[in-house]
Amino acid sequence: MRAVKLYSTGDIRTVDVDVPSPAKNEILIKVEAAGICGTDRHLYHGEFPSVPEKILGHEFSGIVVDSGETDIAEGARVTCDPNTWCGACSQCQRGRVNLCINNLATGIHRDGGFAEFCIFPASKAVVLPDKINPLYGAFCEPLACTLHGMDMGAASEGETVLVIGGGVIGLMAVQLAKLAGAEVLLLTRSPEKQALGLNIGADYAVGTESEVKNIWSEGADLVVECAGVSATVTLSHKLARSGGRVVILGVISQGEQVPIEPFDMLFREIQMHFSFLNPFTHERAAKMIADGTINVSPLISRTISLEEAALAISSPPPKGEVRAIVVPNHD
Ligand code: NAP
Repeated sequence: MRAVKLYSTGDIRTVDVDVPSPAKNEILIKVEAAGICGTDRHLYHGEFPSVPEKILGHEFSGIVVDSGETDIAEGARVTCDPNTWCGACSQCQRGRVNLCINNLATGIHRDGGFAEFCIFPASKAVVLPDKINPLYGAFCEPLACTLHGMDMGAASEGETVLVIGGGVIGLMAVQLAKLAGAEVLLLTRSPEKQALGLNIGADYAVGTESEVKNIWSEGADLVVECAGVSATVTLSHKLARSGGRVVILGVISQGEQVPIEPFDMLFREIQMHFSFLNPFTHERAAKMIADGTINVSPLISRTISLEEAALAISSPPPKGEVRAIVVPNHD
């Protein structure tokens, strides 16, 4: 089969590999859709810890073609929760499964979904409806991560929520904040993403800090950083209202330092939280996508083949692109 392997930092290729065989408690799926995430680009650039020679792709879904000894029906469409917690370490025992010291993430530590076929633990499969658009399954994982961050931020009815960064994570955060009954402002630089933000429910969409201040001079009750760049992390607490909260979802490169002003955060008692992965949120995400509560259709910018995927991951996303979806059996 064809698959996209990250050999080492800066070396990614589409190559021939054997179709994997499921071990006990694993299933084999024929991949229908796999999203290229900001984290895949971080992995390529060595900005996020990776394991050499693994097939990338951690946002994916497909059809079960070999259910091994598990009771998942062959032919079912499933989404994969890529994070496989050990259940035994002290963090798992405390229920903090996303902090598991032995987490084996599909598409990072074990082979993932940028391939024609993929195996993963049956316990990590969530069944999707037969009638769903097959591309939508690729959005369950990013929604699950966004749900965790938004649970942490706990936006409530009538509050103001500033979402920074109009990628998939930010555009899902916008929708979740609207579902919570908040007034929502999206800060993202490109006019295309601002327009998309307004289309999917944001009350306002702007491109600069000063425009945010023109709308909410005292700042937002909740600021959700979804851009993953140091400038916006620095900015996030400055745009929170006194007594407000900040949730950082964006990934800043390992080792990178970001200036923040503790005096401002202390004097105005800003709470800053960091949200990592998708503890216990994948099933909820799958349900919200399956029943249309979250609209993912406008987030699909293009579909590409496995042959095109290596270049797409190693290049910056084209202007205005939200999500490129790799479709292994692309025409
Ligand atoms: P993305 O597609 O790169 O989206 C981020 C967006 O931020 C960009 O589209 C860009 O849009 C905007 N941006 C960049 N610089 C900006 C600036 N200075 N001011 C305002 N907006 C700016 O990434 P994504 O897939 O949505 O993911 C977002 C981040 O979350 C990434 O860092 C990713 O690694 C991380 N992530 C974290 C978790 C977790 O568990 N915490 C899970 C998944 C992903 P414009 O060009 O319009 O500005």
